[in-house]
Amino acid sequence: MSDPNELTVLNPATEEVVATVPAATAEDVDAAVVRAARAQTRWAALAPADRARLLRRFADVVDAHTEELAQLEVREAGHTVANARWEAGNARDLLLYAAGGAERLVGRQIPVPGGWDVTFQEPLGVIGVIAPWNFPMPIAAWGSFPALAAGNAVLLKPAETTPLTALRLAGLALEADLPEHLFQVLPGHGGTAGRALVDHPDVAKIVFTGSTRTGREVMERCARLVKPVTLELGGKSPNVVFADADLKAALDPFSFLDNAGQDCCARTRVLVQEAVLDEARAFLADALAAVVVGDPADEKTQMGPLISGRQLERVRSYVPDNAPALRGKAPDGPGFWFPPTVLTGERHDSPAAREEIFGPVAVLLPFTDEQDAIRLANDTPYGLSGSIWTRDVGRALRVSQAVRAGNLSVNSHSSVRYWTPFGGYKQSGLGRELGPDALTAFTETKNVFLSTEVPAP
Ligand code: NAD
Repeated sequence: MSDPNELTVLNPATEEVVATVPAATAEDVDAAVVRAARAQTRWAALAPADRARLLRRFADVVDAHTEELAQLEVREAGHTVANARWEAGNARDLLLYAAGGAERLVGRQIPVPGGWDVTFQEPLGVIGVIAPWNFPMPIAAWGSFPALAAGNAVLLKPAETTPLTALRLAGLALEADLPEHLFQVLPGHGGTAGRALVDHPDVAKIVFTGSTRTGREVMERCARLVKPVTLELGGKSPNVVFADADLKAALDPFSFLDNAGQDCCARTRVLVQEAVLDEARAFLADALAAVVVGDPADEKTQMGPLISGRQLERVRSYVPDNAPALRGKAPDGPGFWFPPTVLTGERHDSPAAREEIFGPVAVLLPFTDEQDAIRLANDTPYGLSGSIWTRDVGRALRVSQAVRAGNLSVNSHSSVRYWTPFGGYKQSGLGRELGPDALTAFTETKNVFLSTEVPAP
């Protein structure tokens, strides 16, 4: 039973305690909302160029602390140090992008008879951002920084297991002279601090990233207050590999092993055209055996541990010892280790092939032709991302139009760029983050009509 008053942060590679952090209560959330609302009023009154200048300074401070932030992410989340450095860089880059957005956020003038019609993009107020543990730093940044740039205050609740980088980012915001209380981090339990944010009448919007199960509850609670919500939820993404593809690139095991598979965009359904199935199996067997799993702080490590003992048990439950599978190696404990695995004996409707495992486990499934590939790719309640591999341009276009997912890549496994929109179809979520409309999602559109036909006094 976890302590309701504090959070214990473990290093998932060693199970050693990294830190204990007081857990925010519902009363703490109430007080934070009051302070944030005051700070937001002043922040929104600044000229956009002044907000942009402060956010650029924040980016500089983050940049100067890249290594510190990366090492913190390694210790609290078990990310490889190379990935963690990328994550700190992603937070910095998004700050710069959002700062430019603050300067470009404009309304419109619409021709109407008898007057002028103008629209304003007004900030919403105080935004609640609820983040998961799998990418603590980037996801905190994606929800928070465009909201700040658009003139809002942000209350960020990180996951119970990973509050440290978020807390450090809030400290760096103050070092960069962002106004006090504008960007507050409230580490706490989902059922108390998370719920208190969702239920608070003065929190104008919730950005939730996490499991589909919790996202559904968050949306239901937001509905009671007609509160807008962005949901970034689970995934079970297909990697569709046609026989004419560059197999080596298409079957890159890091398309599902990155971050030990704790990646909502992981391509965990490896759909391979029958003609090259044996070749694919042989390639994957060698590729998994070559993956370097171990101490995430070691520069040579390619895959670290899972986040927790709980997550390890969950992953194990999908992979019985006698399951037909290709397996790599992983260290013994301490630490929450699971070997890179591709299940080879699953049907496409089995739990391992349908449910989000959130570990270094993919399923290998054959398909016959283009129609079969599209059918299998779409036969899932999720729709977050996916890859399509073929040298036939017409087929690439047809399949990418037919697959119902928010982020597809053709002959690539890339999913996320801060300047392109990101989000899911179906039960993978609602709304989009990042990209050119990132700031607009944190505004209300106000339309004002000014009559030019006022009678003379
Ligand atoms: P989770 O749903 O258990 O928790 C996410 C966050 O919600 C945590 O901060 C948690 O404390 C909080 N929370 C829990 N119960 C709550 C409640 N009742 N009210 C308000 N907040 C509550 O998810 P997780 O296990 O931390 O993260 C893994 C999941 O996140 C996976 O399903 C993964 O696919 C998903 N994810 C999605 C994206 C995306 O962009 N689509 C990105 C990363 C992770």
